[in-house]
Amino acid sequence: MAEELAGKVAIVTGGASGIGRATAELFVAEGAKVVIADVQDEAGAALAAALGDAALFRHADVSDPEQVQAVVDFAIERFGGLNVMFNNAGISCAAFPDFLDDTLADFDRVMRVNVLGPMLGTRNAARWMKDHGGGVILNTASIAGTLAGHAMMTYRASKAALIQFSKSAAIDLARHGIRVNCIVPGHVRTELSSFGEKGADDALAARIAQGVDAVYLSNQLIKRRGDPIDVANLALFLATDKSRHMTGAVLPVEGGVTVGDPVNH
Ligand code: NAD
Repeated sequence: MAEELAGKVAIVTGGASGIGRATAELFVAEGAKVVIADVQDEAGAALAAALGDAALFRHADVSDPEQVQAVVDFAIERFGGLNVMFNNAGISCAAFPDFLDDTLADFDRVMRVNVLGPMLGTRNAARWMKDHGGGVILNTASIAGTLAGHAMMTYRASKAALIQFSKSAAIDLARHGIRVNCIVPGHVRTELSSFGEKGADDALAARIAQGVDAVYLSNQLIKRRGDPIDVANLALFLATDKSRHMTGAVLPVEGGVTVGDPVNH
């Protein structure tokens, strides 16, 4: 069977772990050259080495404008172009403590990584793509950006902002032949969803993760947590010409957890 991404070059931010890692692996398996961009140097370099000549690792903090430009330049220089920019890196603010305890530093960090990062990635990639036949931009939001809740309020606000940015970028960039689509994962088994951040002790993190599982799985139509590959498969579809008539889409991959009214499940 023909490879879906033969001859294409992609950048995957947050590519060293979780959804980004699964996507980097899938894109390479489908014939793409992939730059794995992440702040985890060891894991990123090990993954690139395991994927062979088709993958390179580049340290890039997506909240830093110069580092985002550098990774775009790196992909073009090393692989000869850029067809797919997957703005996937993201961080969660803690599920706890309460929003009232969040500091300005917490707020600033989440917004810079989750909102500014994809905006810079989109802008810098699109500046090149517009003069080179167009391209594809993908952003990873979250159902936390569509569902309100008392926990993770800064994270929710960041992902809601990203959804609106994606739709607006689709409008702005269509004239340049650039499609922009937004992936909205539900609960996916990764580091990020283990709730171990912000100094929470392991026992508390485990209890919260179990509680979240119980709530999600009772409302979710498909009764299991997602795996990173479930999201990567959607990214692959959106990266290829099979989705050529789609832009500005906001696509859930969440086991149906947002479909119904939880009271009537
Ligand atoms: P993960 O923690 O396994 O992977 C995230 C990767 O992003 C890590 O490798 C991390 O080092 C990298 N990263 C963090 N900050 C960065 C920065 N400033 N610059 C570059 N890289 C950075 O988590 P994941 O679940 O795979 O998360 C991927 C995306 O999916 C995130 O945007 C997240 O918000 C979103 N998401 C995850 C879930 C879930 O349940 N896991 C649900 C909805 C949305």
